[in-house]
Amino acid sequence: MKAILVREFGGPEVLKLEEVPTPKPAAGQVLVRIHAAGVNPYDTYMRAGTYAVKPALPYTPGSDGAGVVEAGGEGVKTVKPGDRVYTAKTVTGAYAEYALALEEQVHSLPEKISFGQGAGVWVPYGTAYHALHHSAEARASETVLVHGASGGVGTAALQMARAMGLAVFGTAGTQKGLDLVKREGAQQVFDHSKAGYQEEILKATGGRGVDIILEMLANVNLAHDLKLLAPRGRVIVIGNRGEVTINPRELMGRRASIRAFTLWGITPAEEAEIHAGLSAGLANGTLRPIVGQELPLEEAPRSHEAVMQPGAYGKIVLIP
Ligand code: NAP
Repeated sequence: MKAILVREFGGPEVLKLEEVPTPKPAAGQVLVRIHAAGVNPYDTYMRAGTYAVKPALPYTPGSDGAGVVEAGGEGVKTVKPGDRVYTAKTVTGAYAEYALALEEQVHSLPEKISFGQGAGVWVPYGTAYHALHHSAEARASETVLVHGASGGVGTAALQMARAMGLAVFGTAGTQKGLDLVKREGAQQVFDHSKAGYQEEILKATGGRGVDIILEMLANVNLAHDLKLLAPRGRVIVIGNRGEVTINPRELMGRRASIRAFTLWGITPAEEAEIHAGLSAGLANGTLRPIVGQELPLEEAPRSHEAVMQPGAYGKIVLIP
């Protein structure tokens, strides 16, 4: 089979298309014929060798795949050959024609969700779910600012927050992104590339501030986010690419808090709840992953460049 292999950490050019043996499922494993693989920003940090999780070389990237079950190993009971599935982590990597996953990493994909969309489920929607439900403990009628709403996690969070009954604000840095953010559920949109947009956000809340901020670029925004919070407001740090100085006094007067997580650290119970929630949302149409760009597998290097560029529009997926 064809697969992307990383033999050394480095720039996008270390993603090489190679011919490798198709793996065979051991007991408790499932072999999935991958029809689409999601490209996430963390794939690029991991490829560069700068991420907290450093895989043994060589490795095939990708936790988020969608496709059809080809075969199940001994003892596999929950899926059978021919089932449409999405993966939430894999054993051998999703940037390939086939991927092995543990039985518990494979989840049913409803007919109405395409494989491209299925490749945009786990990291984006799992993160949005954990941020809103577990970390922010969001309640209907609260106001959430999705700070960086035009990408994978942002669009997922918009759809989910609207379905939960929150008032939803979203930001993007291009007109195309702002249009997408509005279409996917934001009642008010703001351009984070324009000077002074934070004041517009505060004005839109009548000066009270927002209850929750889902933050995609904390090193740039965290200090100012604290000034946008309502009493008992919460900033949830999802994305961060550097250091930042904050004034804790902004938190004290508001009895506000900064919370943060990585999806790698969630508990099995939280993960089971997330999949139950996502499965219901995908089936009932409230969750509709947005695929902005499909690229052939061999263009994995280009996909890693694109995912780090401004002007996000939903997900970038690779087609083996
Ligand atoms: P993505 O699809 O590349 O989207 C990036 C988003 O950030 C876009 O909406 C982009 O908007 C926005 N952005 C750019 N400049 C910004 C600014 N100055 N202020 C606010 N937002 C800005 O990435 P993603 O998959 O949604 O992930 C978002 C971030 O969360 C990444 O850093 C990723 O590594 C991280 N993440 C963390 C976890 C976790 O477990 N904690 C899980 C998933 C993702 P424009 O392009 O329109 O400017």
